[in-house]
Amino acid sequence: MAQLSDDCFAFGGPMMSVDEALGLIASRIEAIGETEMVALVEADGRILARDIAAPLPLPPFTNSAVDGYAVQGRDLPREKERAVPVSGRVAAGGSAGQAQAGFAMRIFTGAPMPEGTDTVFMQEDVRLDDHGRVVLPAGLKVGANVRPAGEDVPQGHLALKAGQRLRPQDIALAAAFGQTRLEVIRRIRVAVFSTGNELASPGTPRAGAQLFDSNRFMLMAMLKRLGCEVGDLGILRDEREPLAQALKQVAGRHDLLLTSGGVSTGEEDHVKAGVESVGRLVLWRMAIKPGRPVAMGVIGGTPFIGLPGNPVASFVTFVHVVRPTVLALSGAIPAPVLPIPVRAAFTYRKKSGRREYVRVTLRRAEDGALEAVKFPREGAGLLSSLVDTDGLVELGETITKVEPGARVGFLGYANLL
Ligand code: AMP
Ligand code: MG
Repeated sequence: MAQLSDDCFAFGGPMMSVDEALGLIASRIEAIGETEMVALVEADGRILARDIAAPLPLPPFTNSAVDGYAVQGRDLPREKERAVPVSGRVAAGGSAGQAQAGFAMRIFTGAPMPEGTDTVFMQEDVRLDDHGRVVLPAGLKVGANVRPAGEDVPQGHLALKAGQRLRPQDIALAAAFGQTRLEVIRRIRVAVFSTGNELASPGTPRAGAQLFDSNRFMLMAMLKRLGCEVGDLGILRDEREPLAQALKQVAGRHDLLLTSGGVSTGEEDHVKAGVESVGRLVLWRMAIKPGRPVAMGVIGGTPFIGLPGNPVASFVTFVHVVRPTVLALSGAIPAPVLPIPVRAAFTYRKKSGRREYVRVTLRRAEDGALEAVKFPREGAGLLSSLVDTDGLVELGETITKVEPGARVGFLGYANLL
């Protein structure tokens, strides 16, 4: 640890573990609490604002799970097959009617169970005899192939919880309850800036020593996936005062201010001093690789996050700092991303006390196992390393080496957002 502390001292801030950063965010960030009503078709990805208890049981009525013949339990053949006359027919959406003792009723999937019946023979398991009777095999249990009312969701059950991020299946459940609109947290408004004199916006002329700004577009896309309303505020030059003023000016209109670049402690890194002149700031070095310093602070009451400029560092720290901040602002139930176990097809050495992320591609090995293949190069500035891979292998603080064949945890890019 001593060696890491020295290391971080060079960057002018305390070393913070990923878990400490998460704790800090959880304790400091307050949920905005403002909600809006949205139609079901607009609800995917939004954070539900209120608990929803089932207003009706699902299924709402007892019905057949198959196409076949409904009978009364006491008419079930025990030892050998039995021919039973058929009386009546009920299809999905039809009325159930009443069954006569000693008769079977033709029934179809989703149709209400006729009163007095409790068991359905699948049509594949029966045959019709010459007298039009259905021949029922022995051995079926009472209640077979029937879906009782409420077996899916009992009435009153707390089915959807405030703070959960709605997925298509959650929306289906709300629809099954007959709802047309849902109360969700309003979108978190995030202002996104890039910093650096070397950056040119795509679509504008690029000088010889400039590169096109890519972080801003990556970060805006990531924020949109988190359901945010994004304000594209362009590129700030490496000058303390204008940078500070620009942040201060937009603070009131946003729930979160986000920059990338300029948070190291070099002479040309003006974010730290700029933010300090108009608000409060903590700068720390995250014990994470790729990483480098991350700044977090408050300007005019609005949280501020300054990510490192290198694209891969920006991406990885976004996942660990911006994502939880956006979720906390939304009052979302914390959703840690859980790595799935895969087999390493690479060798790797790392320092203990820091979490590292290895960019990997997944492949199916000959024995069928999933294998993670490491991207051949490691630079934090290699955008291609994110483009040409499927996700990140997470190596915890205590790990110091990985050998081929080791079990490691994989995080797919899609699951990180
Ligand atoms: P900085 O954190 O400002 O020292 O930047 C570190 C590296 O990331 C430098 O090589 C920058 O040119 C690069 N960089 C910073 N911001 C961006 C950006 N928005 N898009 C692409 N690269 C960037
Ligand atoms: Mg810079």
